[in-house]
Amino acid sequence: MSGIHHVTAIAGRADRNLDFHTRVLGLRLVKKTVNFDDPGTWHLYYGDAQGRPGTILTFFPWEHAAPGQLGVGETQETAFRIPAGALGYWTHRLLEKGVTHGAPEKRFGETVLPFTDPDGMRFALIGVPGAESENGWSAGEIPAEHAIRGFHGVTLLVNDAAPTAAILTDVLGFREVARDGALARYRGDAPLGAHVDLRAAGDFPRGRMGRGSVHHIAFRAVDDAAQTAMAGKLAADHNMHPTGQKDRNYFRSIYFREPNGILFEIATDQPGFAVDEPASELGRSLKLPQFLEPRRAEIEARLPPLEAA
Ligand code: ZN
Repeated sequence: MSGIHHVTAIAGRADRNLDFHTRVLGLRLVKKTVNFDDPGTWHLYYGDAQGRPGTILTFFPWEHAAPGQLGVGETQETAFRIPAGALGYWTHRLLEKGVTHGAPEKRFGETVLPFTDPDGMRFALIGVPGAESENGWSAGEIPAEHAIRGFHGVTLLVNDAAPTAAILTDVLGFREVARDGALARYRGDAPLGAHVDLRAAGDFPRGRMGRGSVHHIAFRAVDDAAQTAMAGKLAADHNMHPTGQKDRNYFRSIYFREPNGILFEIATDQPGFAVDEPASELGRSLKLPQFLEPRRAEIEARLPPLEAA
């Protein structure tokens, strides 16, 4: 199964991030944990009912992070799928909620509604014919028929598309399916999160990561063996050497910087988010990896509040 596993970005205030992504966008908070490498800060995971690969958007909320500045070697946009018939509903909703958004545009024959979250992260809603038959998480005020269905894909801003395209097609299981101006579209075979668009921007300045920037894009490996095979291919055919495997509790990951400098991760589909709490309770309580449990009281005392005061 080839496609995006999750997208991880940098946010500002945790409470504002939670409010926007659960209440305005209607995503489910599927895991409330900390940054394993920096346990005084949150790591919030949003997704569909189960947090399936291809629906997972995660944030490191760093309250004092400076705003990022978009440039080459960065993710330009993260796009969600919605039913084509829901575009009117969402146009209204973004207006009503005061969300900064652009006018609808056409890309690859699809209608794209761009918007930003409160930290300036660039998103889009893409009306996909047929998406009404896909499951959407609905618990709040957004009717299930209009709910976000998961990721459609991402747009990466690169200097030269060819070397990134080679990794996508040779290692990550994508194939080129279309071109539209400076955009080239690559598609995997997963039902969600299957699109990566490369925008070749030539000598445009490099980006500066900060609040509102995507930190990394994770691609799917069905299991450890598939991940090992992908790592082997990166080394043997592309002279790229990913990190050793890291246990992220909900998946197991390796990381590498692709040739244009974007941080890529390859994450296993297993074990998923129900590994440490029942599926019905996802996101309700702070979950820590075993090695941090002894420090729970200290960590809980340091974490910023999630509910607005
Ligand atoms: Zn990740």
